[in-house]
Amino acid sequence: MKAVLIVCDGLGDRPTRALRGLTPLQAARADTLNRIASEGECGIMDVIAPGQPPGSDTAHLALFGYDPYACYPGRGAFEALGVGVELQPGDVAFRCNFGTVNDDGIVIDRRAGRISSEEARQLAEALKDIRIESVSGVQVIFHHSSEHRGVLVLRGEGLSRCVSDVDTHKAGVKPAVPQPLDDSPEAERTAKALREFLEKAGKILAEHPLNLERVKRGLLPANILLPRGAGTLPKIEPITRIWGIRAAAIAGGGLYKGVARAVGFDLIQVPGANGTVNTNLRGKVEAAIRALDSYDLVFLHVKATDNVSHDKNPVKKVEVIEWISRELTPLVEKVTSEEYYLAITGDHTTPSEVGEHRGDPVPIAIMGPDVRRDDVKRFDEISCARGSLCRIRGTDLMRILMNYLGRVPLFGE
Ligand code: ZN
Ligand code: ZN
Repeated sequence: MKAVLIVCDGLGDRPTRALRGLTPLQAARADTLNRIASEGECGIMDVIAPGQPPGSDTAHLALFGYDPYACYPGRGAFEALGVGVELQPGDVAFRCNFGTVNDDGIVIDRRAGRISSEEARQLAEALKDIRIESVSGVQVIFHHSSEHRGVLVLRGEGLSRCVSDVDTHKAGVKPAVPQPLDDSPEAERTAKALREFLEKAGKILAEHPLNLERVKRGLLPANILLPRGAGTLPKIEPITRIWGIRAAAIAGGGLYKGVARAVGFDLIQVPGANGTVNTNLRGKVEAAIRALDSYDLVFLHVKATDNVSHDKNPVKKVEVIEWISRELTPLVEKVTSEEYYLAITGDHTTPSEVGEHRGDPVPIAIMGPDVRRDDVKRFDEISCARGSLCRIRGTDLMRILMNYLGRVPLFGE
């Protein structure tokens, strides 16, 4: 017995004026999603807790069955794993933006004029040889991730993730100086190493020919790094060992690959899967169908629903939902013919009139041979609330799926 878990990021929404009071799911003509709801059991899910807006990272930890309050390791760790860094215990990882500061050190753009991936990759290359001298035994690893983003890893004994962000998320102010967030010598050492790295990186970037060339062309130079979200490898038991399963993940966005890797999924790389509305969804679905031959659990992540929600574009969200529904059809057919299980849900609500994550529950539907099929016919926030799953928490989902797969041991006698 096998299962597929499909997560459409930021899928949940609210009644929306541009859609005459419907949610995007309600407004969409999404035959395959509605088929999953009709044939399955439905409900709504508080991914973290009722009313708590989840980040995508904590939300996915919960969906994979882990209590995010107990084991959230800071986002930087997931970003590092997502770009393929073999993170080691003790490493401290940060997500970084390439940004632009003026001569007074004021941030004028947190994304360096949305510098291209190719240019940012070249700049990242120039940062790889930075040596830390003020703190002994600290090694620097720097990777470009996508567009204006990169990942910094500080490796060495006695480091801590308790250091403050450099990125203030604001333009018009100086970047923050990294500070220890507790009294430990580890936090002090890490903040010191980070300060030295930033100073050296700033010099290298300011003098880099690519940046000088950008200035000549009237473009913003990427002359500063803005780290944030310090994180360490989470100490958790892999999902494969908890349930005795083989598990594979298919995702475009680095964060999702990182969370999946952190909890023990094998990553299946799909060309053109890029975590945007232009992703190769067909290729991802084909990969998921193939993965079912060798894995017990296949996780498929689609980011596009969240992207258009942050863009505050409910009409586009309807289109994206309809597109996802169409593209999922062969996967739903495969699952039906093999009598496997399939669950579809979101990791949080991102109302497309608000453009940010909110704490409203998300719809969930599970189809498969032994589910208690209810009379819900549509996959949306309102219809699913009447379903037989009722209202569950994100951390309940994995156990519910594993119960159908016969993987949950008896409690008691
Ligand atoms: Zn998300
Ligand atoms: Zn989001």
